[in-house]
Amino acid sequence: MGIPTRLVILGKQGAGKGTQAIRLSQHYEVPRISTGDMFRMFVKERDSEIGRRAKKYMEAGDLVPDEVVNEMVRERLTELDAADHGFVMEGFPRNVAQAEALDAMLDPHPVDLVIELDVPTGVVLKRLAGRRVCSVCGLNYSVDAPPQVDWTCDACGGAVVQREDDTEVVISRRLHQYDEQTAPLVAWYLATDRLAAVDGEGEPDTVTGRLLRAIENRLARR
Ligand code: ADP
Ligand code: ZN
Repeated sequence: MGIPTRLVILGKQGAGKGTQAIRLSQHYEVPRISTGDMFRMFVKERDSEIGRRAKKYMEAGDLVPDEVVNEMVRERLTELDAADHGFVMEGFPRNVAQAEALDAMLDPHPVDLVIELDVPTGVVLKRLAGRRVCSVCGLNYSVDAPPQVDWTCDACGGAVVQREDDTEVVISRRLHQYDEQTAPLVAWYLATDRLAAVDGEGEPDTVTGRLLRAIENRLARR
């Protein structure tokens, strides 16, 4: 399999991070780490300390406190033995403090590439309104591209639903958070030459092609 690939995908809500991260994790045969999916799992579990702590922030569209998120990611990376294995990470880091924590967790094997999946706000607003997700595996669908059978996931049979935080008010709050907290990470990673911006508009396959080209360019330099 060669050298493991460690990727982070940044992008606004609805930019297509989840969809593309699933594809990249299949392509590179590495696990996907999605903090949003992890939190949703914990919230569904009864008696989960993380779920209890995260729930109110998620419902409001606010960031879960750094210490909760960082600890959850640190444990996941330990489980994966991430020094030896690669990963595709999505939804984390979401602010500079989290990015610094991630660097410390990965030391001495830094992220290979951070990709900013770039989509205009007008486009993500439209996508989010029609977005539906598998409540079990996180696969994305939309009202225009539903699963084949009666809103059950093509991949795992789970129920495909609208996310509770995909309402107009909460979406606008999440997008605001992105601008305030996460967008500054683009400059932060650019400063250490770890960033590639990729156009996220167009068909999912087209976007995947662009991502693979950007990643291969970077890995060739490694
Ligand atoms: P989105 O990017 O569309 O907001 P996610 O599925 O990535 O959705 O995350 C859902 C929610 O989980 C966020 O609104 C936030 O409350 C919480 N969350 C996920 N990742 C993080 C993180 N890295 N830091 C803080 N909160 C997070
Ligand atoms: Zn599924």
